[in-house]
Amino acid sequence: MAPLALLGGTFDPVHYGHLRPAIEVRESLGADELRLIPGHVPPHRPQPRLAAARRADLLDRAVAPIPGLVVDRRELVRAGPSYTLDTLRELRRMIGDRRPLCFVMGGDAFGGLCSWYQWHKLTDYAHLVVTTRAGYTATPATGPRGAPPQWLPDRQAATVQALRARPAGLVYFQPVSRLEISATAIRRLLAQGRSAQGLMPDCVWQPVASQGLYGYPQV
Ligand code: ATP
Repeated sequence: MAPLALLGGTFDPVHYGHLRPAIEVRESLGADELRLIPGHVPPHRPQPRLAAARRADLLDRAVAPIPGLVVDRRELVRAGPSYTLDTLRELRRMIGDRRPLCFVMGGDAFGGLCSWYQWHKLTDYAHLVVTTRAGYTATPATGPRGAPPQWLPDRQAATVQALRARPAGLVYFQPVSRLEISATAIRRLLAQGRSAQGLMPDCVWQPVASQGLYGYPQV
C-alpha cells in the first residue's frame, strides 16, 4: 500500500538540503504525498530564530512548485513542545491502522534519536527512513547512540518493498544526494551580510533578503 511520508524539522529556514532528499525519498517510497512538518517548540534543540508561522510560510513557497510535497501545520497549532510521538499518533489515527507511515530523518537526527521523547515507541506508529547526510555517518552498522545493541538489527529493512508491506515498525536506510547545506550555516552567512542564494529556492531567498531576515542587511 502506498505510504504517507513525513519529514519533521525546524526549517529555520528551509533549504535544498531538505527539499532534494524529500523529493528523492517520496519517489523511492512510491508515496503520493510527503508532508513537511515544521516544529513549533522543538524539545531537544535550541529554539528557532524565526517565528513558527514565518518558517511555515517560507516552506509553503518552497514546496508550491514541487509535486507531492505539502506543508502540515499540525505542530504549530498544538500547545507545548512538538513531540514527534504525538504527531505520529495523530496521523496514525487519521490514516487508519493499515496504511504505511514513514517518518523521514537525516543521519544526524537518527544518531540522537534516543534523546527524543519516548523514542522507543516511535516505531509503534511509523517506519523510520534514515537518509544520508553529508558529514554524518549513520550507516546500517551504527544505530542511534545509546540504543540497545539489538534494537536496529531487529528492525532493519533491506528493501523499500518491506516498508510498503506493513504499516510501521521498520528502519530503512535510504541513500540520497549529499548536499552539504545546513540552516545553521545559512543563518551564519546571513548574519555576516553574505548571500544564501543558490542554497535555497529563489522564491525563499527573495523574502529572506528583502525582509532582512536572520540579520541580513535590508536593501
Ligand atoms: P539546523 O542547522 O538549524 O540544525 P538543519 O539544516 O539541520 O537545521 P532541520 O530543520 O533541523 O535542518 O532538519 C530537518 C530534517 O532534515 C532533519 O531530519 C535533518 O537531518 C534533515 N536535513 C537537514 N539538512 C539536510 C541535508 N543537507 N541533507 C540531508 N538531510 C538534511
